[in-house]
Amino acid sequence: MSSMYALSSPAHYVQGKNAIAELGKHLSAIGTKPLLVADDVVWGIVEKGLTEGFEAASLPVVRVGFGRFATPEAVDALVQAITDGGHDVIVGLGGGSAIDAAKAAGHLAEVRWASVPTAASSDAPTSALSVIYTEEGEFIEYRFFPHNPDLVLIDTQLVAEAPDKFLQAGIGDALATYLEARATDRGQGLTMAGGRPTKSALALARLCWDLLWENSLTALDAVRSKQVTPALEAVVEANTLLSGLGFESGGLAAAHAIHNGLTAAPQTHGLTHGQKVNIGSLTQLVLEGAPTQEIEDFIVFTTRVGLPNTLTEIGLTAEDTAELRAVAEAATVEGETIHNMPFPVTAEDVVAALTSIEQLSRRVRAEHGLPEPVKHIAEH
Ligand SMILES: [Zn+2]
Repeated sequence: MSSMYALSSPAHYVQGKNAIAELGKHLSAIGTKPLLVADDVVWGIVEKGLTEGFEAASLPVVRVGFGRFATPEAVDALVQAITDGGHDVIVGLGGGSAIDAAKAAGHLAEVRWASVPTAASSDAPTSALSVIYTEEGEFIEYRFFPHNPDLVLIDTQLVAEAPDKFLQAGIGDALATYLEARATDRGQGLTMAGGRPTKSALALARLCWDLLWENSLTALDAVRSKQVTPALEAVVEANTLLSGLGFESGGLAAAHAIHNGLTAAPQTHGLTHGQKVNIGSLTQLVLEGAPTQEIEDFIVFTTRVGLPNTLTEIGLTAEDTAELRAVAEAATVEGETIHNMPFPVTAEDVVAALTSIEQLSRRVRAEHGLPEPVKHIAEH
């Protein structure tokens, strides 16, 4: 066991309504020739808002498009674009994938990098690592970098105008943070920051959890009305900053390993990261033998948020034994974060816990008058 404790964080975090107008000002402290990475939809949303700020800061506006996933090929293409254009900072705008690809490319090209999420849909923006996927969205690897982004900037008006499913996904990703940090702290494992969890990271993870339980439902109401409210600001901070610091320096455990395993099942394709992570969180609670009340509260709350907590909602059934076995095998491979749990976890344990959540969540939902699960049909 390492006796070192470690915490890493981005150099600068900016959040607020119309923050995108200040992107140029903040970027000018980092570089003189930024390369902006955004797909066409995201670019349509941000271009107008950032242009004036770039002009005021005397920064050129240069943007390249982006596909759907942070694949090794997408990363290499961005490295080429940085070299060809002589850029000194790369800025990932949009969802987690564009941001992950920008970070990985910035590292390889040895320039600085910034994250500008346009939705609070995952905790990818703040960390010093990227998750690399195949064209089909299957997990390949984590890539680690020697430092975090120089800047993370999130405009809460853009978050308020994004579809509510993005905020739901971010809540699913962020709810796992405390559960996984708590498990890592109880065990012997190391965090993505390369040490044992600090007390600070655990406190941030706990604050993330508390803010989500207090504000998620009202924040979703705000997004459905396209309005920035204090509840939305709190949930954006929880999903982006607190979950980011909390997962990186507090530790990942079973929930994200099970998410990674689920990406191998074609039935789950088309689901967001946070939706799959939520299945991982509930499965982790079952694996831990968490108190019944804690498990039931989690099912009730995540159903109200609109997150899946049954196999049905991720396109699987309890009878899909071969798929569940494959998910469990992938989740328990050597080096996966599931081995940060404070007890040994086998693929058999994961199959049992995962299979059990169908009946468990159906019963709890029925007892609370909550809707029955609707089957997810994978996109092809
Ligand atoms: Zn995550």
